[in-house]
This record gives sequence, C-alpha cells and structure tokens, in this order.
Amino acid sequence: MSLEPARVGECDTPLCDGAAETITPVGYVCEGCAAEIAAEYEQARERDEVSR
Ligand SMILES: [Zn+2]
Repeated sequence: MSLEPARVGECDTPLCDGAAETITPVGYVCEGCAAEIAAEYEQARERDEVSR
C-alpha cells in the first residue's frame, strides 16, 4: 500500500497528464496548457473590450 500524492503536480486539464507547473484561473496546469489558457483569456478580454 503506497500513499500517492493526491493529484498534486498533475495538470488539471482533462485528457492531459502533463506535470502541473502553473496556477491559472481554471486550475493547476502544465506549461503547455497554461500558455493556451493565457492566450484564450487574452482573446476573451480583448473581445469584451471591443464589444463595449
Ligand atoms: Zn496540461
């Protein structure tokens, strides 16, 4: 019987089992997912500002 760390260090993105390294608004994710999430957030924010 081994005590595994409870999901610590694992990317929160479903279908991705990379090593979590970065905290984002949607969870603790790996570097690759963090970059994608950051890009999406930037686009969403720009869209928001344009529509106002
Ligand atoms: Zn990931």
